Amino acid sequence: MEQKLVVYNSLKGEKESFKPINKDHVGMYVCGPTVYSNVHLGNCRTFISFDLIFRYLQYLGYKVRYVRNITDAGHLENDADEGEDRIAKKARLESIEPMEVVQRYTIDFRDTMAKFNALPPSIEPTATGHVVEQIEFIKKILDQGYAYEVNGSVYFDVLKFNKDMSYGKLSRRNIEELVHNSRALDGQSDKRNPQDFALWKKAEPKHIMRWPSPWSDGFPGWHLECTAMSTKYLGTQFDIHGGGMDLKFPHHECEIAQAEAVNKKNPVNYWLHANMLTLNGKKMAKSTGNNILPYEMFSGENSILKKSFSPMVTRFFMLQAHYRSIVDLSQSALEASEKGFNRLVEGILMLDQLVASDSSSDFNIGEWNKNCYSAMNDDFNSPSLIAYLFDAVKYINAVSSGLKKISSEDLESLSKSMKGFFYEVLGLLTPEKDKNENESKQLIGTLELLMTLRDKARADKDFKTSDLIRNSLEKIQIQINDTEEGTSFKVY
Ligand code: AMP
Ligand code: ZN
Repeated sequence: MEQKLVVYNSLKGEKESFKPINKDHVGMYVCGPTVYSNVHLGNCRTFISFDLIFRYLQYLGYKVRYVRNITDAGHLENDADEGEDRIAKKARLESIEPMEVVQRYTIDFRDTMAKFNALPPSIEPTATGHVVEQIEFIKKILDQGYAYEVNGSVYFDVLKFNKDMSYGKLSRRNIEELVHNSRALDGQSDKRNPQDFALWKKAEPKHIMRWPSPWSDGFPGWHLECTAMSTKYLGTQFDIHGGGMDLKFPHHECEIAQAEAVNKKNPVNYWLHANMLTLNGKKMAKSTGNNILPYEMFSGENSILKKSFSPMVTRFFMLQAHYRSIVDLSQSALEASEKGFNRLVEGILMLDQLVASDSSSDFNIGEWNKNCYSAMNDDFNSPSLIAYLFDAVKYINAVSSGLKKISSEDLESLSKSMKGFFYEVLGLLTPEKDKNENESKQLIGTLELLMTLRDKARADKDFKTSDLIRNSLEKIQIQINDTEEGTSFKVY
């Protein structure tokens, strides 16, 4: 196993050698989406960045437990514990159940990430599925004296915590500055100090998403779910915690405070933060409308870009930037990525057609392979890795046109490394592979339609048509079964 991985740790503000707590095993927690609307491409960039990290850790041979939550309760409109619950608001506006909102957008999120060929996490826990754990965590914080109850709500006492342990170390804010910059309480708030944050909120009578607790019928604060779930699945101290840059404060700062208040130790060894995707120079965001949704990108149905771009080109475009750099989405940048991606794909596909020669190679494969690893070992530098892959493509093209030579041993090694970095580390697919997957989805859709038409024909007593469908499909080894629930099929 390569052991020279260096990662940029936001907690220290510098690159550090990566050493997991348990040799060969890595625990990684990434804050997941709040499922109240479709994910936009900005959200996707953060999850693709962590997919790259997850993939590379596994490529190095680590066994990774990757936990990424689904926020389905407790995230209010405003990060300062004010406003309506985002999911409840959407449910109210659409006159549907909050859990219908959650179901719809969780499915959208998973489908979208699958289109980007992002691997699913090992565990995908939800906030609503862990209310018991969150209540238990609040009790422990109260026992330690770092929280207080007022009118059925419980708040974390930031000033008291800061006296014993320091608050603000991740975002490098000191408490005086925070106090100075906080808006004064308006007299309506139950908080003792404006920088305190909610662990439990008493639900107003009209608030639908509520659970019983020792303090009131209410709901957990947003920061708490990640602490409760990361501790449950990864322990009181784990290796990596990730999320978008914008979550550093207050969300991740509050997560650290909650965990330290109870366990009296630093919960996370390496904090990794992915940078933002911008559009027209401004952060892509749900709230401002400055965003493009993935399907708008893939179909070309948007007013910003002149043409559509496939999920793989979009993924490649994102990976051409380092995960800690800002990337601006534009027509010209996407077009350049599309050209580059096609060139890379041609190189990958050409590998299988190269003919090795008896003489030695004109390219130092061992050195090149080392460079690819060094790029990724340097804080997951995917743009640098991609540059090395392009060097190899140049050489592959030269071998293909007879200008350069490759030995059979080197061909095998180059092919293995190129494919490993392309498919497994960068998570890219060649259009062929992509096409096969799309085609099988289209085939299933078509068969389902045929089953519906056959059911209709049978209901209308049009047996000529229903038999035609059955017999024609049987000829191509697709067997139809009629049951009480309807018609199903089996492909042989
Ligand atoms: P949310 O659903 O708002 O909680 O966001 C889910 C994830 O997307 C978080 O990790 C955010 O940091 C991330 N995110 C939001 N906007 C952007 C953006 N424009 N670029 C990259 N990541 C983003
Ligand atoms: Zn979180």
